[in-house]
Amino acid sequence: MSEAPAEIVASARAAGRTLLSEVESKALLAAAGIPVTEARLATSPGEAAAIAGEFGFPVVLKIASTEVAHKSDVGGVLVGVADEAAAGEGYDGIVAAVGRAAPGATVDGVSVQRQAEAGVEGIVGVTSDPQFGPVVMFGLGGIFVEVLKDVAFRLVPLAPRDAAQMVREIRGLPVLEGTRGQPGVDLEALERLLLSVSAFIEAHPEVVELDLNPVFAYPVGHPAGGAVAVDARVVLGEAVPA
Ligand code: ADP
Ligand code: MG
Repeated sequence: MSEAPAEIVASARAAGRTLLSEVESKALLAAAGIPVTEARLATSPGEAAAIAGEFGFPVVLKIASTEVAHKSDVGGVLVGVADEAAAGEGYDGIVAAVGRAAPGATVDGVSVQRQAEAGVEGIVGVTSDPQFGPVVMFGLGGIFVEVLKDVAFRLVPLAPRDAAQMVREIRGLPVLEGTRGQPGVDLEALERLLLSVSAFIEAHPEVVELDLNPVFAYPVGHPAGGAVAVDARVVLGEAVPA
């Protein structure tokens, strides 16, 4: 995560891209204080092994391609990579799998990232409404969003009260509060995350879409912290001609 926020946006613009890579998206978000798993781009198996060695194990490897929308659908995500040898082999394995499942997709390399401990899965998103402007969405992962449409929306900018309401108004709240002997998650950490996302969007009007899917949420006092986004996707609006 070495590039400065302005350089990340500028280099995407220079390349004529509106979609930022996961590595770029996470660097931009981390600079804004949004918790993400640190990710770096490797362009060879050896580089993947070296970055993994710096992070410490386990790490996660993911295909880096702005032409692949759902990385796991094409064999592009490998979790639980345990040592440097596995990181090097994983690099080749992922590139080969994506080559079979999505032939022709341009591959920039493989992102190497710290593996977050499993938590309760949530989703945070931003879309832009033509009339009302940016809207923040919060929900739980998987079927809660896809099947049950169990999500909360608020317009940017969010007030603290909006964030507090969003995490509590979804029907899946018992999942966050803890059920069947599972401890509840740190709701205030999720509120802070939503407020940081709102502040990020205010500071970056060029961002029209944002997906943090999934966010892992943890119980209060968990060593991993309150919540962390393990996948991120930032979309810029079309460049306004100067
Ligand atoms: P995509 O959504 O493009 O298929 P993701 O980056 O969301 O790919 O990865 C798929 C799944 O792998 C996630 O839902 C999560 O369960 C797991 N995962 C991804 N990155 C990490 C990470 N850094 N730490 C732990 N688990 C991860
Ligand atoms: Mg994802």
